[in-house]
Amino acid sequence: MSLKAQLESDQGEWGKWVLRRQLGIPNNRRLWVCACMDERLPVDDVLGIRGDHGDAHVFRNAGGLITDDAIRSAMLTCNFFGTEEIVILNHTECGMMSAHAETLVKALEKKGIHVEKVPIDPSLPELTLAKGGVAKWIRMFNDVDEICAQQIEYVRNHPLIPKNVVVSGWVYEVETGRLRAPHKILAEKVRTSKAMGAR
Ligand SMILES: [Zn+2]
Repeated sequence: MSLKAQLESDQGEWGKWVLRRQLGIPNNRRLWVCACMDERLPVDDVLGIRGDHGDAHVFRNAGGLITDDAIRSAMLTCNFFGTEEIVILNHTECGMMSAHAETLVKALEKKGIHVEKVPIDPSLPELTLAKGGVAKWIRMFNDVDEICAQQIEYVRNHPLIPKNVVVSGWVYEVETGRLRAPHKILAEKVRTSKAMGAR
């Protein structure tokens, strides 16, 4: 190939990259990922993707939780940007299990913040939380396997997510550096004779 042809081809590929949304080109893996923002969760490594180089739309928040904005993002990518698969990533030792929500609310109030009066969404000033709603909104949780399993079901059955979208959820074990399906805790099956089924 001549250099001219090579450069022309590069220009074409670059143009497709820049104009992806205008041209209706989906991300490479047609994938939306919802993951915790935790710095120990290496999303690309554990999924074997290059999310920040075109492979996926990666949504991260505290906990990797399906919040209203997660649903908004998933709705857009699945219905309008060609995404066909959703992966939810939660992880062990998540900060969202490190305290009870009520404790955090009290701590904020102690700082002089009127938690029930703070704006939540700049485009929806009418959106406010009912009394006692702030703790729910913070969404601390007690069991990472449970929350992961619940989120899979919730997304699978959500009216804004097309039925043909493949949905899975995984727990990343910070302590082993590996993924597991919710409640499939191998460490519990390898430590004692009872767990190994000895007779
Ligand atoms: Zn986390």
